[in-house]
Amino acid sequence: MTFKIFNTMSRKKEIFQPLKDREVRMYTCGPTVYDYAHIGNFRTYIWQDLLRRWLKFKGFKVKQVMNLTDVDDKTIKGSQNEGVPLQKFTQKYTDLFLEDAKALNIENPEVLVPATKHIKEMVALVKKLLQKKFAYETEDGIYFDISKFKDYGKLSKLKLSELKPGARIRSDLYEKEQAQDFALWKFWDENDGEVFWDVGIGRGRPGWHLECSAMSMKYLGESFDIHTGGIDLMFPHHENEIAQSEAATGKPFVTYWIHGEHLLVEGRKMSKSLGNFITVHELLEKDYDPIAIRYLLLSTHYKQQLNFTYLALQSAKNAVEKIHDFIQRLGDVKSGKHNRDVEMLIKHSLMKFEDKLDDDLKINEALAEIFELMNEINRLIDKREINRSDAKNVREFLLTIDKVLGLNLSKVKKEKISPVVKKLIAQREKARKSGDFETADKIREQLLEKYRIVLEDTPKGVKWKHV
Ligand code: AMP
Ligand code: ZN
Repeated sequence: MTFKIFNTMSRKKEIFQPLKDREVRMYTCGPTVYDYAHIGNFRTYIWQDLLRRWLKFKGFKVKQVMNLTDVDDKTIKGSQNEGVPLQKFTQKYTDLFLEDAKALNIENPEVLVPATKHIKEMVALVKKLLQKKFAYETEDGIYFDISKFKDYGKLSKLKLSELKPGARIRSDLYEKEQAQDFALWKFWDENDGEVFWDVGIGRGRPGWHLECSAMSMKYLGESFDIHTGGIDLMFPHHENEIAQSEAATGKPFVTYWIHGEHLLVEGRKMSKSLGNFITVHELLEKDYDPIAIRYLLLSTHYKQQLNFTYLALQSAKNAVEKIHDFIQRLGDVKSGKHNRDVEMLIKHSLMKFEDKLDDDLKINEALAEIFELMNEINRLIDKREINRSDAKNVREFLLTIDKVLGLNLSKVKKEKISPVVKKLIAQREKARKSGDFETADKIREQLLEKYRIVLEDTPKGVKWKHV
Protein backbone atom coordinates (compact mmCIF):
# COMPACT_ATOMS: atom_id res chain seq x y z
CA MET A 1 0.00 0.00 0.00
CA THR A 2 1.12 3.54 -0.55
CA PHE A 3 2.00 5.72 2.37
CA LYS A 4 -0.45 8.50 3.13
CA ILE A 5 0.37 11.36 5.43
CA PHE A 6 -1.53 14.41 6.65
CA ASN A 7 -0.12 17.53 5.04
CA THR A 8 -0.76 20.68 7.08
CA MET A 9 -0.50 22.74 3.91
CA SER A 10 -3.57 21.10 2.30
CA ARG A 11 -5.15 20.00 5.60
CA LYS A 12 -5.60 16.62 3.92
CA LYS A 13 -4.14 13.15 3.97
CA GLU A 14 -2.04 12.85 0.82
CA ILE A 15 -0.22 10.06 -0.96
CA PHE A 16 3.46 10.45 -0.22
CA GLN A 17 5.61 10.90 -3.28
CA PRO A 18 9.15 12.24 -2.93
CA LEU A 19 10.51 14.68 -5.49
CA LYS A 20 13.41 12.37 -6.28
CA ASP A 21 12.31 8.82 -6.91
CA ARG A 22 13.05 6.75 -3.74
CA GLU A 23 15.00 9.37 -1.83
CA VAL A 24 13.35 11.33 0.98
CA ARG A 25 14.76 14.66 2.05
CA MET A 26 13.43 15.70 5.41
CA TYR A 27 14.09 18.59 7.75
CA THR A 28 13.34 18.61 11.46
CA CYS A 29 13.44 21.71 13.63
CA GLY A 30 15.79 20.77 16.44
CA PRO A 31 16.06 21.90 20.05
CA THR A 32 17.13 25.21 21.41
CA VAL A 33 20.08 24.10 23.51
CA TYR A 34 19.71 26.26 26.61
CA ASP A 35 18.32 23.69 29.05
CA TYR A 36 17.35 20.03 29.19
CA ALA A 37 14.79 19.11 26.53
CA HIS A 38 11.59 17.92 28.22
CA ILE A 39 9.55 14.83 27.41
CA GLY A 40 7.12 17.02 25.43
CA ASN A 41 9.95 17.90 23.07
CA PHE A 42 10.89 14.24 22.94
CA ARG A 43 7.35 13.26 22.08
CA THR A 44 7.86 15.24 18.89
CA TYR A 45 11.33 13.80 18.22
CA ILE A 46 9.98 10.30 18.73
CA TRP A 47 7.17 10.48 16.16
CA GLN A 48 9.66 12.05 13.78
CA ASP A 49 11.92 9.07 14.48
CA LEU A 50 8.97 6.78 13.76
CA LEU A 51 8.42 8.59 10.48
CA ARG A 52 12.03 8.20 9.33
CA ARG A 53 12.10 4.55 10.46
CA TRP A 54 8.86 3.88 8.60
CA LEU A 55 10.15 5.47 5.42
CA LYS A 56 13.32 3.39 5.61
CA PHE A 57 11.29 0.25 6.30
CA LYS A 58 9.38 0.98 3.09
CA GLY A 59 12.66 1.09 1.20
CA PHE A 60 13.17 4.83 0.88
CA LYS A 61 16.59 6.32 1.37
CA VAL A 62 16.23 9.01 4.02
CA LYS A 63 18.32 12.11 4.48
CA GLN A 64 17.17 13.91 7.60
CA VAL A 65 18.65 17.21 8.68
CA MET A 66 18.21 18.62 12.17
CA ASN A 67 19.44 21.98 13.39
CA LEU A 68 20.54 22.85 16.89
CA THR A 69 19.55 26.38 17.81
CA ASP A 70 22.68 27.48 19.62
CA VAL A 71 22.24 31.24 19.29
CA ASP A 72 19.05 33.10 20.17
CA ASP A 73 17.64 35.21 22.99
CA LYS A 74 17.34 32.24 25.37
CA THR A 75 20.80 30.75 24.81
CA ILE A 76 22.47 34.15 25.13
CA LYS A 77 20.63 34.90 28.35
CA GLY A 78 21.37 31.44 29.75
CA SER A 79 25.09 31.67 29.04
CA GLN A 80 25.23 35.12 30.62
CA ASN A 81 23.40 33.88 33.72
CA GLU A 82 25.86 31.03 34.08
CA GLY A 83 28.80 33.29 33.25
CA VAL A 84 30.19 30.98 30.55
CA PRO A 85 30.85 31.61 26.85
CA LEU A 86 27.87 30.86 24.61
CA GLN A 87 29.59 27.99 22.83
CA LYS A 88 30.51 26.21 26.05
CA PHE A 89 27.02 26.73 27.41
CA THR A 90 25.23 25.36 24.34
CA GLN A 91 27.67 22.44 23.98
CA LYS A 92 26.67 21.24 27.44
CA TYR A 93 22.97 21.17 26.54
CA THR A 94 23.67 19.69 23.12
CA ASP A 95 25.48 16.79 24.79
CA LEU A 96 22.63 16.31 27.26
CA PHE A 97 20.10 16.34 24.44
CA LEU A 98 22.04 13.70 22.51
CA GLU A 99 22.40 11.56 25.62
CA ASP A 100 18.64 11.58 26.21
CA ALA A 101 17.89 10.97 22.53
CA LYS A 102 20.20 7.96 22.60
CA ALA A 103 18.57 6.59 25.75
CA LEU A 104 15.20 6.86 23.99
CA ASN A 105 16.67 5.02 21.00
CA ILE A 106 16.04 7.91 18.61
CA GLU A 107 18.11 7.44 15.48
CA ASN A 108 20.59 10.16 14.68
CA PRO A 109 19.64 12.32 11.71
CA GLU A 110 22.08 12.08 8.82
CA VAL A 111 22.98 15.74 9.39
CA LEU A 112 22.81 17.26 12.85
CA VAL A 113 24.31 20.72 12.89
CA PRO A 114 24.45 23.87 15.01
CA ALA A 115 23.21 27.19 13.69
CA THR A 116 26.42 29.07 14.55
CA LYS A 117 28.32 26.98 11.99
CA HIS A 118 26.07 28.36 9.23
CA ILE A 119 26.32 32.10 9.63
CA LYS A 120 27.77 32.40 6.11
CA GLU A 121 24.73 30.71 4.55
CA MET A 122 22.35 32.84 6.61
CA VAL A 123 24.08 36.06 5.61
CA ALA A 124 23.90 35.04 1.95
CA LEU A 125 20.15 34.52 2.35
CA VAL A 126 19.69 37.92 4.02
CA LYS A 127 21.65 39.59 1.20
CA LYS A 128 19.48 37.90 -1.39
CA LEU A 129 16.30 39.02 0.36
CA LEU A 130 17.61 42.59 0.61
CA GLN A 131 18.53 42.54 -3.03
CA LYS A 132 15.10 41.25 -4.04
CA LYS A 133 13.50 43.89 -1.79
CA PHE A 134 11.79 41.39 0.48
CA ALA A 135 13.86 42.72 3.35
CA TYR A 136 14.58 46.15 4.73
CA GLU A 137 16.92 47.62 7.26
CA THR A 138 15.99 49.61 10.38
CA GLU A 139 18.10 51.03 13.17
CA ASP A 140 18.04 47.72 15.11
CA GLY A 141 18.15 45.07 12.41
CA ILE A 142 17.13 43.70 9.05
CA TYR A 143 13.51 42.62 8.73
CA PHE A 144 11.43 40.55 6.34
CA ASP A 145 8.57 42.52 4.84
CA ILE A 146 5.59 40.16 4.93
CA SER A 147 3.49 42.44 2.74
CA LYS A 148 5.89 41.75 -0.16
CA PHE A 149 5.37 38.02 -0.05
CA LYS A 150 1.92 37.43 -1.48
CA ASP A 151 1.60 33.89 -0.12
CA TYR A 152 2.28 34.90 3.48
CA GLY A 153 -0.10 32.96 5.71
CA LYS A 154 -0.68 30.06 3.31
CA LEU A 155 0.40 27.41 5.81
CA SER A 156 -1.42 28.73 8.85
CA LYS A 157 -4.36 29.98 6.72
CA LEU A 158 -4.14 33.50 8.03
CA LYS A 159 -6.61 35.99 6.66
CA LEU A 160 -5.26 39.16 5.16
CA SER A 161 -7.02 41.14 7.88
CA GLU A 162 -4.91 39.33 10.48
CA LEU A 163 -1.66 40.46 8.93
CA LYS A 164 0.06 43.40 10.47
CA PRO A 165 2.54 44.52 7.85
CA GLY A 166 4.84 47.21 9.05
CA ALA A 167 4.56 46.09 12.68
CA ARG A 168 7.82 44.49 13.62
CA ILE A 169 8.86 41.69 15.92
CA ARG A 170 12.46 41.45 17.04
CA SER A 171 12.14 38.87 19.82
CA ASP A 172 12.69 35.18 19.13
CA LEU A 173 9.75 34.36 21.35
CA TYR A 174 7.14 33.00 19.08
CA GLU A 175 4.00 32.51 21.10
CA LYS A 176 2.66 35.81 19.75
CA GLU A 177 -0.42 35.35 17.66
CA GLN A 178 0.34 38.22 15.36
CA ALA A 179 1.65 38.21 11.85
CA GLN A 180 4.33 40.83 11.66
CA ASP A 181 7.53 41.66 9.89
CA PHE A 182 10.16 39.57 11.62
CA ALA A 183 13.87 39.98 12.27
CA LEU A 184 16.22 38.22 9.87
CA TRP A 185 19.31 39.78 11.37
CA LYS A 186 19.50 41.61 14.70
CA PHE A 187 22.06 44.33 15.11
CA TRP A 188 24.20 44.02 18.20
CA ASP A 189 23.13 45.72 21.40
CA GLU A 190 24.64 45.49 24.88
CA ASN A 191 22.32 42.64 25.90
CA ASP A 192 24.15 40.44 23.40
CA GLY A 193 27.47 40.92 25.22
CA GLU A 194 30.19 39.10 23.31
CA VAL A 195 27.85 37.41 20.90
CA PHE A 196 28.00 38.96 17.42
CA TRP A 197 29.31 38.43 13.93
CA ASP A 198 30.87 41.09 11.72
CA VAL A 199 29.94 39.75 8.35
CA GLY A 200 29.25 42.72 6.12
CA ILE A 201 25.56 43.28 6.87
CA GLY A 202 26.08 45.06 10.19
CA ARG A 203 27.49 43.63 13.42
CA GLY A 204 24.85 41.32 14.77
CA ARG A 205 23.36 37.85 14.94
CA PRO A 206 20.71 35.89 13.08
CA GLY A 207 17.02 35.82 13.98
CA TRP A 208 15.70 32.39 14.88
CA HIS A 209 13.61 31.68 11.76
CA LEU A 210 16.49 32.35 9.38
CA GLU A 211 18.63 29.41 10.43
CA CYS A 212 16.13 26.74 9.40
CA SER A 213 15.73 28.15 5.89
CA ALA A 214 19.48 28.52 5.39
CA MET A 215 20.41 25.14 6.82
CA SER A 216 17.65 23.09 5.24
CA MET A 217 18.34 24.49 1.78
CA LYS A 218 22.09 24.03 2.18
CA TYR A 219 21.79 20.29 2.82
CA LEU A 220 18.54 19.39 1.08
CA GLY A 221 18.27 21.80 -1.84
CA GLU A 222 15.86 24.65 -2.51
CA SER A 223 12.89 22.28 -2.72
CA PHE A 224 12.62 19.16 -0.60
CA ASP A 225 10.04 16.67 0.63
CA ILE A 226 9.22 16.87 4.33
CA HIS A 227 9.43 19.46 7.05
CA THR A 228 8.41 18.46 10.58
CA GLY A 229 7.81 20.04 13.96
CA GLY A 230 5.39 20.34 16.83
CA ILE A 231 2.16 22.17 16.06
CA ASP A 232 3.38 25.28 17.90
CA LEU A 233 6.01 25.74 15.21
CA MET A 234 3.50 26.06 12.39
CA PHE A 235 3.01 29.73 13.07
CA PRO A 236 4.96 31.90 12.84
CA HIS A 237 8.15 29.82 12.58
CA HIS A 238 7.28 27.65 9.60
CA GLU A 239 5.23 30.37 7.95
CA ASN A 240 8.31 32.59 8.15
CA GLU A 241 10.57 29.84 6.85
CA ILE A 242 8.33 29.51 3.79
CA ALA A 243 8.35 33.26 3.25
CA GLN A 244 12.13 33.60 3.49
CA SER A 245 12.89 30.57 1.37
CA GLU A 246 10.33 30.98 -1.39
CA ALA A 247 10.94 34.72 -1.62
CA ALA A 248 14.65 34.01 -2.12
CA THR A 249 14.38 31.12 -4.59
CA GLY A 250 11.03 31.63 -6.29
CA LYS A 251 10.51 27.86 -5.91
CA PRO A 252 8.25 25.78 -3.68
CA PHE A 253 10.14 25.17 -0.45
CA VAL A 254 8.60 21.98 0.98
CA THR A 255 6.03 19.47 -0.28
CA TYR A 256 4.75 17.94 2.98
CA TRP A 257 4.42 19.89 6.22
CA ILE A 258 3.91 17.47 9.09
CA HIS A 259 2.98 18.73 12.54
CA GLY A 260 2.36 16.74 15.69
CA GLU A 261 0.19 17.49 18.68
CA HIS A 262 1.49 18.29 22.12
CA LEU A 263 2.22 16.39 25.24
CA LEU A 264 0.05 17.85 27.99
CA VAL A 265 0.17 17.87 31.75
CA GLU A 266 -3.22 18.23 33.42
CA GLY A 267 -4.67 19.53 30.20
CA ARG A 268 -1.98 22.14 29.49
CA LYS A 269 0.94 21.99 27.08
CA MET A 270 4.12 20.79 28.76
CA SER A 271 6.47 23.74 28.47
CA LYS A 272 9.41 25.43 30.10
CA SER A 273 7.48 28.66 30.47
CA LEU A 274 4.63 27.00 32.42
CA GLY A 275 7.16 25.15 34.57
CA ASN A 276 5.14 21.93 34.26
CA PHE A 277 7.85 20.00 32.50
CA ILE A 278 9.54 16.68 33.20
CA THR A 279 12.87 15.72 31.70
CA VAL A 280 14.07 12.33 30.55
CA HIS A 281 17.00 12.77 32.87
CA GLU A 282 14.66 13.15 35.83
CA LEU A 283 12.71 10.01 34.93
CA LEU A 284 15.87 7.99 34.45
CA GLU A 285 17.05 9.09 37.86
CA LYS A 286 13.79 7.74 39.26
CA ASP A 287 14.74 4.45 37.59
CA TYR A 288 12.17 4.47 34.82
CA ASP A 289 13.18 2.38 31.85
CA PRO A 290 13.94 4.65 28.86
CA ILE A 291 12.23 2.17 26.56
CA ALA A 292 9.04 2.47 28.62
CA ILE A 293 9.29 6.26 28.23
CA ARG A 294 9.76 5.78 24.50
CA TYR A 295 6.78 3.47 24.34
CA LEU A 296 4.58 5.97 26.17
CA LEU A 297 5.53 8.83 23.84
CA LEU A 298 5.40 6.65 20.73
CA SER A 299 2.19 4.76 21.19
CA THR A 300 -0.34 7.58 20.77
CA HIS A 301 -1.01 8.79 17.24
CA TYR A 302 1.05 11.91 16.55
CA LYS A 303 -2.02 14.03 15.76
CA GLN A 304 -3.66 13.26 19.10
CA GLN A 305 -2.84 15.17 22.23
CA LEU A 306 -1.32 13.01 24.92
CA ASN A 307 -1.77 13.70 28.60
CA PHE A 308 1.23 12.71 30.69
CA THR A 309 0.58 10.85 33.94
CA TYR A 310 2.74 8.46 35.95
CA LEU A 311 -0.05 5.95 35.63
CA ALA A 312 0.24 6.12 31.84
CA LEU A 313 4.00 5.64 32.17
CA GLN A 314 3.36 2.57 34.32
CA SER A 315 1.00 1.17 31.66
CA ALA A 316 3.67 1.75 29.04
CA LYS A 317 6.13 -0.13 31.24
CA ASN A 318 3.65 -2.99 31.56
CA ALA A 319 3.16 -3.09 27.79
CA VAL A 320 6.91 -3.30 27.18
CA GLU A 321 7.22 -6.01 29.82
CA LYS A 322 4.44 -7.93 28.18
CA ILE A 323 6.37 -7.95 24.91
CA HIS A 324 9.57 -8.95 26.72
CA ASP A 325 7.81 -11.76 28.57
CA PHE A 326 6.36 -12.95 25.31
CA ILE A 327 9.79 -13.08 23.69
CA GLN A 328 11.08 -15.01 26.71
CA ARG A 329 8.21 -17.41 26.38
CA LEU A 330 8.97 -17.97 22.71
CA GLY A 331 12.49 -18.94 23.72
CA ASP A 332 11.09 -21.55 26.10
CA VAL A 333 9.03 -23.35 23.45
CA LYS A 334 10.21 -26.95 23.19
CA SER A 335 10.24 -28.99 20.04
CA GLY A 336 6.88 -30.22 18.89
CA LYS A 337 4.69 -30.31 15.82
CA HIS A 338 5.09 -27.59 13.22
CA ASN A 339 1.98 -25.42 12.90
CA ARG A 340 1.35 -23.95 9.45
CA ASP A 341 -1.12 -21.41 10.89
CA VAL A 342 1.74 -19.57 12.57
CA GLU A 343 3.14 -18.51 9.22
CA MET A 344 -0.30 -17.25 8.17
CA LEU A 345 -0.72 -15.35 11.41
CA ILE A 346 2.64 -13.63 10.97
CA LYS A 347 1.86 -12.69 7.37
CA HIS A 348 -1.52 -11.32 8.32
CA SER A 349 -0.09 -9.38 11.21
CA LEU A 350 2.65 -7.83 9.07
CA MET A 351 0.10 -6.81 6.45
CA LYS A 352 -2.10 -5.14 9.06
CA PHE A 353 0.88 -3.49 10.73
CA GLU A 354 1.91 -2.00 7.39
CA ASP A 355 -1.61 -0.91 6.51
CA LYS A 356 -1.93 0.98 9.77
CA LEU A 357 1.37 2.77 9.47
CA ASP A 358 0.75 3.53 5.81
CA ASP A 359 -2.40 5.27 6.94
CA ASP A 360 -0.89 8.44 8.40
CA LEU A 361 1.36 6.55 10.84
CA LYS A 362 -1.42 5.02 12.92
CA ILE A 363 1.03 3.52 15.40
CA ASN A 364 -1.63 2.96 18.06
CA GLU A 365 -3.53 0.65 15.73
CA ALA A 366 -0.34 -0.98 14.43
CA LEU A 367 0.65 -1.85 17.99
CA ALA A 368 -2.81 -3.26 18.66
CA GLU A 369 -2.22 -5.67 15.76
CA ILE A 370 0.99 -6.86 17.37
CA PHE A 371 -0.71 -7.47 20.71
CA GLU A 372 -3.42 -9.38 18.90
CA LEU A 373 -0.77 -11.63 17.34
CA MET A 374 0.88 -12.14 20.71
CA ASN A 375 -2.45 -13.23 22.19
CA GLU A 376 -3.01 -15.72 19.37
CA ILE A 377 0.46 -17.17 19.69
CA ASN A 378 0.16 -17.35 23.46
CA ARG A 379 -2.98 -19.41 23.01
CA LEU A 380 -1.09 -21.78 20.71
CA ILE A 381 1.76 -22.07 23.19
CA ASP A 382 -0.73 -22.86 25.95
CA LYS A 383 -2.12 -25.65 23.81
CA ARG A 384 1.40 -26.76 22.83
CA GLU A 385 0.45 -26.30 19.20
CA ILE A 386 3.60 -24.55 18.11
CA ASN A 387 7.16 -25.80 17.82
CA ARG A 388 10.57 -24.28 18.29
CA SER A 389 11.00 -23.19 14.69
CA ASP A 390 7.53 -21.58 14.59
CA ALA A 391 8.45 -19.71 17.77
CA LYS A 392 11.71 -18.62 16.17
CA ASN A 393 9.79 -17.22 13.20
CA VAL A 394 7.53 -15.21 15.48
CA ARG A 395 10.58 -13.81 17.27
CA GLU A 396 12.18 -12.93 13.92
CA PHE A 397 9.00 -11.13 12.93
CA LEU A 398 9.07 -9.06 16.11
CA LEU A 399 12.70 -8.16 15.52
CA THR A 400 11.85 -7.10 11.97
CA ILE A 401 9.10 -4.72 13.01
CA ASP A 402 11.27 -3.47 15.84
CA LYS A 403 13.26 -1.65 13.16
CA VAL A 404 10.21 0.61 13.09
CA LEU A 405 9.31 0.57 16.78
CA GLY A 406 12.81 0.94 18.17
CA LEU A 407 12.09 -0.95 21.40
CA ASN A 408 15.46 -2.72 21.44
CA LEU A 409 13.77 -6.11 21.31
CA SER A 410 16.89 -7.86 20.05
CA LYS A 411 18.44 -7.13 23.43
CA VAL A 412 15.83 -9.19 25.25
CA LYS A 413 17.90 -12.16 26.31
CA LYS A 414 16.70 -15.50 27.47
CA GLU A 415 16.69 -15.24 31.23
CA LYS A 416 18.58 -17.89 33.07
CA ILE A 417 18.27 -19.02 36.64
CA SER A 418 20.80 -20.93 38.64
CA PRO A 419 20.16 -24.51 39.79
CA VAL A 420 19.93 -23.18 43.39
CA VAL A 421 17.11 -20.83 42.43
CA LYS A 422 15.41 -23.57 40.45
CA LYS A 423 15.52 -25.78 43.50
CA LEU A 424 14.11 -23.05 45.75
CA ILE A 425 11.22 -22.44 43.34
CA ALA A 426 10.45 -26.16 43.34
CA GLN A 427 10.61 -26.31 47.15
CA ARG A 428 8.23 -23.38 47.41
CA GLU A 429 5.84 -25.02 44.98
CA LYS A 430 5.89 -28.16 47.06
CA ALA A 431 5.29 -26.21 50.29
CA ARG A 432 2.47 -24.23 48.74
CA LYS A 433 0.75 -27.31 47.37
CA SER A 434 0.93 -29.03 50.72
CA GLY A 435 -0.60 -25.99 52.43
CA ASP A 436 2.59 -24.91 54.21
CA PHE A 437 2.17 -21.26 53.28
CA GLU A 438 4.58 -20.03 55.90
CA THR A 439 7.51 -21.86 54.29
CA ALA A 440 6.27 -20.92 50.84
CA ASP A 441 6.23 -17.21 51.77
CA LYS A 442 9.65 -17.41 53.36
CA ILE A 443 11.17 -18.88 50.22
CA ARG A 444 9.40 -16.26 48.11
CA GLU A 445 10.96 -13.50 50.25
CA GLN A 446 14.35 -15.14 50.10
CA LEU A 447 14.17 -15.32 46.30
CA LEU A 448 13.36 -11.64 46.09
CA GLU A 449 15.91 -10.39 48.57
CA LYS A 450 18.81 -12.60 47.66
CA TYR A 451 18.29 -13.30 43.97
CA ARG A 452 16.00 -10.45 42.85
CA ILE A 453 13.51 -12.96 41.52
CA VAL A 454 9.77 -12.36 41.68
CA LEU A 455 7.30 -15.20 41.51
CA GLU A 456 3.86 -15.07 40.09
CA ASP A 457 1.35 -17.86 40.58
CA THR A 458 -0.71 -18.34 37.45
CA PRO A 459 -3.32 -20.96 36.56
CA LYS A 460 -0.60 -22.53 34.42
CA GLY A 461 1.88 -22.76 37.26
CA VAL A 462 4.44 -20.52 38.81
CA LYS A 463 6.24 -17.93 36.67
CA TRP A 464 9.40 -16.09 37.66
CA LYS A 465 11.26 -13.05 36.49
CA HIS A 466 14.25 -10.92 37.40
CA VAL A 467 13.65 -7.45 38.84
P1 AMP B 1 11.83 24.03 21.08
O1 AMP B 1 13.16 23.61 21.68
O2 AMP B 1 10.96 24.77 22.03
O3 AMP B 1 12.01 24.74 19.76
O4 AMP B 1 11.01 22.71 20.77
C1 AMP B 1 11.56 21.60 20.10
C2 AMP B 1 10.45 20.76 19.52
O5 AMP B 1 9.57 20.29 20.54
C3 AMP B 1 9.54 21.52 18.54
O6 AMP B 1 9.23 20.67 17.45
C4 AMP B 1 8.31 21.83 19.35
O7 AMP B 1 7.17 21.97 18.55
C5 AMP B 1 8.22 20.59 20.21
N1 AMP B 1 7.46 20.77 21.47
C6 AMP B 1 7.56 21.76 22.39
N2 AMP B 1 6.70 21.55 23.43
C7 AMP B 1 6.04 20.39 23.16
C8 AMP B 1 5.03 19.61 23.83
N3 AMP B 1 4.54 19.96 25.01
N4 AMP B 1 4.60 18.48 23.23
C9 AMP B 1 5.10 18.08 22.04
N5 AMP B 1 6.05 18.75 21.37
C10 AMP B 1 6.53 19.90 21.90
ZN1 ZN C 1 12.94 25.48 12.50
